[in-house]
Amino acid sequence: EIDLVIQDVSMRFNTREGTVTAVDGVSFEIKRGEFVSIIGPSGCGKSTVFNILGGLVRGYDGSVVVGGERISGPHASIGMVFQEESTFPWRTVIDNVAFPLEVKGVPKAERYVIARKFIDMVGLTGFEQRYPSELSGGMRQRVAIARTLVFEPKILLMDEPFAALDEQTRVLLGDKVLKIQQDLRQTTLLITHNITEAVQLSDRVLIMTFRPGKVKRIVDINLPRPRQ
Ligand code: ADP
Ligand code: ADP
Repeated sequence: EIDLVIQDVSMRFNTREGTVTAVDGVSFEIKRGEFVSIIGPSGCGKSTVFNILGGLVRGYDGSVVVGGERISGPHASIGMVFQEESTFPWRTVIDNVAFPLEVKGVPKAERYVIARKFIDMVGLTGFEQRYPSELSGGMRQRVAIARTLVFEPKILLMDEPFAALDEQTRVLLGDKVLKIQQDLRQTTLLITHNITEAVQLSDRVLIMTFRPGKVKRIVDINLPRPRQ
């Protein structure tokens, strides 16, 4: 059961210095419920792959198939967590986290109950009525993670979600995200440069590398790891 297929994808950007090949013929698949990480050096094209999968980039070659459907823009079953915090500054913590439920038309009382569960999960109970400007960067990132998890996306894409967090929070939050991912059997792609994090959380790690001539390739490592 393959959930996400990226087939021979290339992306070139035209810049003043000329054409930059950000991604060059990358292919991989993720099975339903699988947790896959991509690691690789800065500039190898990880974020470009992430943005292509999220439907945020057009003009690439190759194809991206999500749940059997070729995508050409943002897909409703995909939830994304970005490296840079992306909270709504004019909304309190609880109204940030409840936002996707509000869009779905979930009544206020009900969406607050659900939002509180996720706020607790990311360790921000007691901060529900604060505004993002009253929180640290790491706390804002946790709000953004809770806001993505709250609508239980079938496919979860995360680009360096824990980069702004201290080590302790990173491990704690990683464990919680993994627990939810396993409970919901979410198909998950994590982009990280933290190899420990990739190995701890993933079923499989894809290593994106540069080869001589700047062609990028993916090396696939399976982690035979018992799961609880
Ligand atoms: P990574 O996430 O692995 O650090 P990126 O996907 O951000 O890599 O970038 C891959 C390459 O593509 C880099 O050389 C980067 O400078 C270039 N690149 C990415 N986005 C753009 C863009 N919008 N315009 C021009 N070049 C870009
Ligand atoms: P950053 O990495 O941006 O500093 P953190 O999320 O690690 O952000 O939090 C930084 C500080 O914010 C903590 O040292 C603590 O003082 C405060 N803080 C974070 N989470 C909580 C919490 N759940 N309860 C109370 N204070 C917190």
